Amino acid sequence: MNQAVPKVVTTIAQLREELASVRRAGKTVALVPTMGALHAGHLSLVHAAQTQCDFAVVSIYVNPSQFGPQEDFQRYPRTLENDLALLADCRTDLVFAPSNEEMYRPGHATWVEVGPLGELLEGACRPGHFRGVATIVLKLLNVVQPDAAYFGQKDYQQALVPRRMAADLDVPAAIRVCPIVREPDGLAMSSRNRYLSPAARQRALVLWQSLQLAGELIERGQRDRRAIAARMRERIEAVAGAQIDYIALVDPETLQPIEIISGRTLAALAVKIENTRLIDNCFLEPPPAVASAP
Ligand code: AMP
Repeated sequence: MNQAVPKVVTTIAQLREELASVRRAGKTVALVPTMGALHAGHLSLVHAAQTQCDFAVVSIYVNPSQFGPQEDFQRYPRTLENDLALLADCRTDLVFAPSNEEMYRPGHATWVEVGPLGELLEGACRPGHFRGVATIVLKLLNVVQPDAAYFGQKDYQQALVPRRMAADLDVPAAIRVCPIVREPDGLAMSSRNRYLSPAARQRALVLWQSLQLAGELIERGQRDRRAIAARMRERIEAVAGAQIDYIALVDPETLQPIEIISGRTLAALAVKIENTRLIDNCFLEPPPAVASAP
């Protein structure tokens, strides 16, 4: 507790200078990309990064190109001072907090086209979102050149798309995904939870409850995607002011719907509670079928 506030650099040149000496010392480097407004979910990534690498860089940057025109870019919480205090407590080595001008210099014209993974689920609801995500992640990977970059399962697709991109574009960094950190009552931690009124915060529990319901149905032998999704929908629609963007039961690699669930399946959903759009997901793992006696 009460460690020194980590060093903060705001330009790519400063960042490269800092990292050159780290590399000369033979240390491995981790990158944790964030948009700030940090909570225990982010800090779990920092912890994994520090455990697995010698030097952890946390980037804090609210990337405008991943927000749609009607989305919350302007009001997205920006809490740098508090973020730095949290990062000091978990002894982050370096923070990169660039300006928009630093990340998108005049004349910026190159974007990462992500293909089908970027068009499904979140991509279908938020056109252009993953083009913005992939572009900023690639830029961060290029400036930091980490040995490993850390993402949370909370934003499942935001980790899957960089993994695809890193494989396709020969990015040498390992892409690592850490489990979802939840509040004690099950709500997945999110910077956007702070938008919720106390009543909406209570209603937001329905995301996790409906995912748990899916798990229970699987346990009881239900395997039909439509039947499970219908029960989840019913549960969510019983909550006042809840508006479903999607409920998906999909292959975790391709994000294509699975009609009859027989192996590891991703259950993912996006729901608006009042005006706040929340996402959550979990894996459904039906027990292997028992071979019938001869
Ligand atoms: P964000 O600042 O929302 O862009 O998130 C930065 C990173 O933290 C992403 O890789 C997220 O998936 C991850 N993250 C956000 N919330 C959680 C959580 N509750 N548990 C684990 N990781 C999280």
